[in-house]
Amino acid sequence: MTLAILSRDYQYETEKICRIFFPNEKINLVFEKGGVDEKDIIETNIDNGTATVFCFVNGKRAQRKKDLSQSENKELEMGRLLYSCLTEITGYTPPWGVLTGVRPSKLMTKYINEYGEREAKRRFIDELYVSEKKTALAADVSKTEFGIINLSEPDSFSLYVSIPFCPSRCSYCSFVSHSITTPAAKKLMPEYLDRLCDELEQYGEIASRLNLKIESIYFGGGTPGVLESSQLDRLCLQIENSFDLSTLREYTVEIGRPDTVTMSKLRTLKFHNVGRISINPQTFSQNILDAVGRQHTVEQTLSAYRMAKTAGFDSINMDLIAGLTGDTAENFSQSVDTAITLAPENITVHSLALKRSSELAVSGADVEDGETAVRMLDCAQSKLYESGYIPYYMYRQSKCVGNLENVGWCLPGKECLYNVFMMEECHTVFAAGAGAVTKLKAPDGDFIERIFNFKYPYEYISRFDELTDRKESIIDFYKEHI
Ligand code: SF4
Repeated sequence: MTLAILSRDYQYETEKICRIFFPNEKINLVFEKGGVDEKDIIETNIDNGTATVFCFVNGKRAQRKKDLSQSENKELEMGRLLYSCLTEITGYTPPWGVLTGVRPSKLMTKYINEYGEREAKRRFIDELYVSEKKTALAADVSKTEFGIINLSEPDSFSLYVSIPFCPSRCSYCSFVSHSITTPAAKKLMPEYLDRLCDELEQYGEIASRLNLKIESIYFGGGTPGVLESSQLDRLCLQIENSFDLSTLREYTVEIGRPDTVTMSKLRTLKFHNVGRISINPQTFSQNILDAVGRQHTVEQTLSAYRMAKTAGFDSINMDLIAGLTGDTAENFSQSVDTAITLAPENITVHSLALKRSSELAVSGADVEDGETAVRMLDCAQSKLYESGYIPYYMYRQSKCVGNLENVGWCLPGKECLYNVFMMEECHTVFAAGAGAVTKLKAPDGDFIERIFNFKYPYEYISRFDELTDRKESIIDFYKEHI
């Protein structure tokens, strides 16, 4: 289906609402009547203060009209009219209503601060059409985040280390990651690590010049577990030599794929005081792992987890994904049960977001429908609450199945600080490596400036001098905002 949106006013809002219902369909934006070939049409219009929404999709028609001349938020009103039409046509009631932002808990926090919890919840339910369950979830996340956000101070920063390599490519993934098994990637790695160490040293000097204090470190990917013990050792040593770690609260290495875990790597990380690791099963169904081209076994996940416990890790995260191709609500529920039985300190439940660059999206393969994913997340939410986990951070991505969310759950006191610091933009994050994005947060307010590293490792290596030049702006930024 190709959807034509005919809208001069509120085109952006109209498209966002349509994306909730049709996340993977092609959308054409049209400005004038006539010349519209598509048979599926959404038309929004305001004339003399009266809003009209007309939808003709999949052979079904719905229409709404409302006088908005007295309305203070015409964009929201228009969105609600369209939402109501599309709910009627599709029979689907998206649990996040008309809320399209990436951080629902941030909005909830804002509302709680302005109006109190009760009124904040009422606004979510009555004005944004968010379900009661999701409203409660956003409020719980907002409360847990609050204490973590307050740990951050104007001179705080965190460090992100990017390892954009994986053992192989999973078909649902759109992340720019290179399979480490190719000769080209193997050849790149030593030089990549050289430059990464250089960049860490540069950030160390900047942090020291600016008297900033480090709060958390996070190695992400890709799959940082592809690094050998000696390579992990080298990076950790570089960090120890470059930064004053006396203020460090948390050190996480997202190992990623379970088949990369070895006792030697775990011991190296432990030796360098890494306190938190992530081993990501995504699902405990072997047939689903096979179907999405994730080349490891369930047994490897279980064995990696046991190894990590034996190595003494008491803060382990496991990622699960709802909506993987071929997965059913029952299967997913069993994956959640298995994760809960293992009792890792963190379980992060993602919703599949099928970006255009993923192999699955390119091949046009079917993905689970939104309603199945809603059932999967509802079930995970109930089971995790019952088992003593609390939600502590949350975000949404575009093209998420069912317009759903990703939620980090943890046993109380085991929240991943970095996730909250980064998601809520509490302080500066210096990001090293290919594809990494540094976010500078002004110490005197909320202003954020981003510095982008080159996306691909070969570019990162060959144009490293340009990145060094860009670092000068960090000092200027702080001078300007102190
Ligand atoms: S899902 Fe993870 S392991 Fe798979 S390709 Fe993407 S980053 Fe790599």
